[in-house]
Amino acid sequence: MAAHQEKKLAEERRTVQNDTKASQGQWGRAWEVDWFSLASILFLLMFAPLIVYYFIMSCDQYQCSLTDPLLDLLTGNKHLSDIWNRTPMLTYRAAAIYCLWVTFQVVLYVSIPDFCHKFLPGYVGGVQEGAVTPAGVVNKYEINGLQAWIITHVLWFANASCFHFFSPPIIFDTWIPLLWCANILGYAVSTFAMIKGYFFPTNAKDCKFTGNFFYDYMMGIEFNPRIGKWFDFKLFFNGRPGIVAWTLINLSFAAKQQELYGEVTNSMILVNVLQGIYVLDFFWNEAWYLKTIDICHDHFGWYLGWGDCVWLPYLYTLQGLYLVYHPVQLCTAHAAGVLVLGLLGYYIFRMTNHQKDLFRRTNGNCSIWGKKPEYIECSYTSVDGTKYYSKLMTSGFWGWARHFNYTGDLMGSLAYCLACGFEHILPYFYIIYMTILLTHRCIRDEHRCSSKYGKDWERYTAAVPYRLLPGIF
Ligand code: NDP
Repeated sequence: MAAHQEKKLAEERRTVQNDTKASQGQWGRAWEVDWFSLASILFLLMFAPLIVYYFIMSCDQYQCSLTDPLLDLLTGNKHLSDIWNRTPMLTYRAAAIYCLWVTFQVVLYVSIPDFCHKFLPGYVGGVQEGAVTPAGVVNKYEINGLQAWIITHVLWFANASCFHFFSPPIIFDTWIPLLWCANILGYAVSTFAMIKGYFFPTNAKDCKFTGNFFYDYMMGIEFNPRIGKWFDFKLFFNGRPGIVAWTLINLSFAAKQQELYGEVTNSMILVNVLQGIYVLDFFWNEAWYLKTIDICHDHFGWYLGWGDCVWLPYLYTLQGLYLVYHPVQLCTAHAAGVLVLGLLGYYIFRMTNHQKDLFRRTNGNCSIWGKKPEYIECSYTSVDGTKYYSKLMTSGFWGWARHFNYTGDLMGSLAYCLACGFEHILPYFYIIYMTILLTHRCIRDEHRCSSKYGKDWERYTAAVPYRLLPGIF
C-alpha cells in the first residue's frame, strides 16, 4: 500500500513538474484581463470615489439615510447642485492637518527603528524578511508599526488631557475637507506608482504589464515599489496612514458624541474596543502581515494606493460616524451579544492565521490542537526557473475550511454593524462589503494558488472541500 502510494506520489510530482514548467512565471503576475475583470475595474474606478462621497454626504446632510438623497433627487425636491453646494470644500486648514499627519507617519516609519521588540516579549519587530516574490527576490522590511501606533496614540491622549493644541473631535469636524485631501494623495500615489513602474521600477523582473492601461493602473505594475532601501509603498500605505488613523478616527467620533450629548454610548464604546483590538492585532502581527496576500501577491496600484488612503479610513469607520448622528444605547443583552460575537470572531480570525503562520514558520514541525499537523506537500517554480517546495496544512481550522480566517473576520465585522442597532442600513455596509471582498479574495487567491501549485492544489481542495463554511460553501 505504502509503495503504491509512493509510486502515485512520484507520478503526481512528475506531472506537477510539467505543469509548473508550463505555468512557470504565471503565478502572482500576468493575469489575463477578461471582460468581467475589465468591466469591474472600470466600474470601481468611476464609482468607488462616488460611493465614498455618497456615504459621507448622506451622513452630513441626511442623518445617514442612504435613501433620502436619492428620493430627493428622483422627486425633483433637490438637484445635484443643491447637494454639492452644501458639501464642505477643501480648506487650507484641512490640507495643513493632512500634510502634517502624513509627514508625521512617514517620519515615524523611516526614521525611528523599532524598539518595541526589545522590551515586549513575543513581539516580532525590527528588520524582517518578506516572502519570495515571483522573480525570486526576498525583500527586507523595517517592522515598526506598533511603535508608530503607540507614539501616535500617546500624543493624542497627551493632547486631549494636557496640551489642548487641537480639540479631540477635530477629525469629525474636518471630515469632508479631509476627504478631498485623502483623494488627492490616493490618486497622486497611484499615478506615481504607475509612472515609476514604467520608468524606474525597484525590481523590473517583478513588474506586471498586461497591456491594458486601466487594469495596470488599478491593479498596479510594480510588485514592491520602494523609494530608497526602506520606504516600501505597500507596507507604508497599507498600515499607516490608514490603519493608524482608524482608531484615532473612532476616538474622534467618541469625543464628538461626548461633546454633543454629554455621554459616550455603550455602542460607541463597543465599536471603539472591537475595532481597536483588530487594529492593535494588525500592528502586533505586522511581521506576519508580510506573508498575507496584500504584500505577497498584490501589485501596488490604485486598488491599494487609493484604497488605503480613502476607502479604508472613510468606509471602515462608518459605524462610529453613524453613532455620532444616531447615539444608540444598547440593552445589556444586545451589548453582551455583540461583544461575544466580536470576540469569538476575533479569536477564530487570530487563531486561524496563527496556525498557518506557526505551521509555515516551523515547516510543519509544530503542534496544532495537540497533534502534529497533517499537510499536503506541494511545489512551484519561480520566473527564473528555480523550483521551491511548500506545504498546505489540512489540520486545525485549516482542515475545517480553506479560508476559516475570513469566516472569523466576517463574524467580527458583523458584530461592529450589530452594535449600531437596526434603524439604518448604512452601518451594515461594512459586513456587505467584507462579504463581497473576502469571497472575491477567496476566488482570486484560489485561482492564483491553482496556477502556482497545479495538481497539488487539486489534491488540497479535495482534502478540504469547503471555502468559508464547512458543509455549506
Ligand atoms: P491568507 O492568510 O488566508 O493567505 C492565503 C495564502 O496562504 C495562500 O495564497 C497560500 O499562500 C497560503 N495558504 C493557503 N492555504 C494554506 C494552507 N492550508 N496551509 C498553509 N498555507 C496556506 O489570506 P489573506 O492574506 O487574504 O488574509 C490574511 C488575513 O487578513 C485574513 O484573516 C483576512 O481575513 C484578513 N484581511 C482583512 C482585510 C480587511 O480589509 N479587513 C482585507 C484582507 C484580508 P502560499 O502561496 O504561500 O502557499
